Amino acid sequence: PPPRQPQGGGRRAGVGQAETPLDIVFVSAEVAPWSKTGGLGDVVGSLPVALAARGHRVMVIAPRYLNGGQNDALYEDAVDTGVRAELALGGCGPQTAGFFHLHRNLVDWVFVDNPVFHRPGNPYGDEHGVFGDNQFRYALLSLAACEAPLQLQIGGYRHGEPPGFAYGERCVFVSNDWHAALVPSYLAAKYRRNGVYLKTRCIFAIHNLSHQGVEPAATFPNLGLPDDWYEHLSWEYPSWASINGPAVNLLKGAVLCSDRIVTVSQGYAWEICTSEGGWGLHNVLLGRQHVLNGITNGIDMDEWDPARDAHTPAPFDAADTSGKAACKAALQVELGFDVDARIPLIGWIGRLDHQKGPDIALDAVPGITQRGCQMVMLGSGSAKYEAAMRAAEAAHRASFRGWVGFSVPVAHRIVAACDVLLMPSRFEPCGLNQLFAMRYGTVPVAHATGGLRDTIRSYDPHAAGGDVATGWTYSPPDSGAMLRALDQALDLRWHQPDLWAAIMRAGMTADLSWDRAAADYEQVFAWALMDEPARAF
Ligand code: ADP
Repeated sequence: PPPRQPQGGGRRAGVGQAETPLDIVFVSAEVAPWSKTGGLGDVVGSLPVALAARGHRVMVIAPRYLNGGQNDALYEDAVDTGVRAELALGGCGPQTAGFFHLHRNLVDWVFVDNPVFHRPGNPYGDEHGVFGDNQFRYALLSLAACEAPLQLQIGGYRHGEPPGFAYGERCVFVSNDWHAALVPSYLAAKYRRNGVYLKTRCIFAIHNLSHQGVEPAATFPNLGLPDDWYEHLSWEYPSWASINGPAVNLLKGAVLCSDRIVTVSQGYAWEICTSEGGWGLHNVLLGRQHVLNGITNGIDMDEWDPARDAHTPAPFDAADTSGKAACKAALQVELGFDVDARIPLIGWIGRLDHQKGPDIALDAVPGITQRGCQMVMLGSGSAKYEAAMRAAEAAHRASFRGWVGFSVPVAHRIVAACDVLLMPSRFEPCGLNQLFAMRYGTVPVAHATGGLRDTIRSYDPHAAGGDVATGWTYSPPDSGAMLRALDQALDLRWHQPDLWAAIMRAGMTADLSWDRAAADYEQVFAWALMDEPARAF
């Protein structure tokens, strides 16, 4: 095997170094910038880079989505390895996966190629809804990912030197969310049973428990798992579901069979073990609570840097925020609002999904405009909320914009320009927008849940000394409570500008980097490698 110690170039100045460099393999349905519909893509685009900078050899495996759009060009840098893996996917018959490879930022980015990933739309669906064969598409991704460390001679940070070695079978897999939830099952049932990957461990990372990969039990034979594995995935549709009868639940299988479980904040790790936050899986999770940890996400400090942001009109930082005023004025012009620094500008960004509370934000629009504020919402998703955003814009044209679409540059401009970012999420595993906002001196006002409660130090007028707040959290998740918190924030902005500036500065200077989280992941890897493989079967 090749030496694990990086041979120069694998380390980055100023970054802590791992004591034991490992071979780490991420498997995910999304990876930014190639594919992103939410925070999963951000995390898988950033955490591997942070781990590689600490001296690990890191591979990231995601689909090669070609949808005929602008994004396809992003994949042009990835070269065909020529490897074709034959995958035994049960009743679906033998399948072939190709692998494209790109070495960048010390990471091996690997894109799994198959016609099921070449469709118009986003990764999961098109204008008609989600694709009907997503279970099959992501089973294919998961099984292809298990083959990649064995078959690809890509050599990690030694890229540029003659290729010639595979990562091999002593790795740590990090499989993410339901799409990659079959990885621990495949490792255990298809590989370890045959003496392969005995020294490999699999961490399952939960970014959002509300999607579990539940399909009718009749689909089980398509997964290519042995019959005796059925019990680990077996599930019943809940009483309120539109169909009933026996089902398979891919995420349940991962909770049972992975060696350790990570969620994206400590608050969420606790919530998912309660009947209120467990989406039916809390008892299964409680059974594995001893291997469950919460690690708060970081953010990409290069992409989200107000001093060097290519998407915003003026740079600024904690020492000099005058550029933020220019960003605000520019956005007011762009939105057709009155250009006035004194008018509070309130933002909301996210998927238009019940989880994110777009309805709560929209309920508050009359109240927010009555308070003399301007407000902009950016989101795409549910047609019902898109229509509601357009209706609110028609009713409050002078001071409300409902921007329907998915645009990273617009998200940057809103984060940079606003005074306050609302996050009325009903639940939020971690949340990234509050972290981006804090970095840009935009004060978050958020529902006290999951990662939002963990990452925002809420203002408390009675707190004695100590740390300065970084925002406001409120409860319950309704527009009344949100407006009361917003009133407190605006009152303080108006009457105690020095304290407001201190709150902005506290957010801008907080350590939101991935390096901290990467060190915590290392600890989890070390624990996993100390133990025998999980034996929930
Ligand atoms: P989730 O993963 O549940 O969607 P997160 O807060 O973890 O929520 O991450 C959402 C990510 O997606 C952030 O980077 C956010 O800026 C981005 N995002 C969401 N909606 C949009 C949009 N309409 N346009 C641009 N970026 C968006």
